[in-house]
Amino acid sequence: MKSAEAKSILIPNKYPSGWFGTKYTMNLYRGCDIQCIYCDSRSERYGIDDFHNVTVKTNALELLQNELASKRSTDSTIGTGSMSDPYTLMERKLRMTRGALELIAAYPFPIHITTKSDLILRDTDVLQQLARKYASVAVTITTSDDELARILEPHAPSSTERFRTLAELRKIGVVTSITMMPILPFLEDQFDNIERLVERAAAAGVQHMIAAFGVTLRDRQRAYFYQKLDESFPGLSERYKRTYGYDYECKSVREEELKLHFQALCASCGISTDMPFYKPPAPEAIQMSLFDM
Ligand code: SF4
Repeated sequence: MKSAEAKSILIPNKYPSGWFGTKYTMNLYRGCDIQCIYCDSRSERYGIDDFHNVTVKTNALELLQNELASKRSTDSTIGTGSMSDPYTLMERKLRMTRGALELIAAYPFPIHITTKSDLILRDTDVLQQLARKYASVAVTITTSDDELARILEPHAPSSTERFRTLAELRKIGVVTSITMMPILPFLEDQFDNIERLVERAAAAGVQHMIAAFGVTLRDRQRAYFYQKLDESFPGLSERYKRTYGYDYECKSVREEELKLHFQALCASCGISTDMPFYKPPAPEAIQMSLFDM
């Protein structure tokens, strides 16, 4: 583990209505030790050398406290989990994410968390508090096969544990989603994988599923991905090279059929395929609640 001081912690998003309606991105860690073999944050454009050796931003909570206090509105959603899992392996000991959630809950601001880790269940008390305003959690699951998940996402809990996590979060009023991305060509883009994922999501009471039937690959991210494919699936990196060359977007050859099938399955289970986002209460609703006091 390394440590560094950050200059700021709530980074305004370029497209605030995009990723789960988040207006700010918060990363307390830099790099990620979950070590998914396809991780995009490993690519050169993000400039994180030694990606698996996580850097903790030692002054993050102090910065967060000051930055939250300086916001005029508490209706802007704060997102975490886009470049590094907020529940990295060292979060168990360092409790930075928990500390940040406690600060956010004191206002509260709406929150969206993307993670693969069941460690989030440690923080159900704070999440329950946040959920009174708005708490949304997306858990990434791309295969229903636990053994395949172990190869693709070596330090993440199994897919089975992730479904269990989602079911528990739903019970405390968190808005739950699955980010089914990336669905890796030739490994996960089978109809029965998609069917099984939607079935298990429905059983866990998941409300939203967002899918990407393919993967994006760049420079050292691609090199690492191919190296890992060679270790576990001999010949598969060659198939990628033949099919996609150096393309950035490597879409499943069945993308369109899979998308239609996925949407129909979700509709039949009452699962939305749109991202959820926080909607501030209408002014009349606020006035009514004041009369109730
Ligand atoms: S959990 Fe997310 S950030 Fe961490 S290695 Fe996996 S894809 Fe990358």
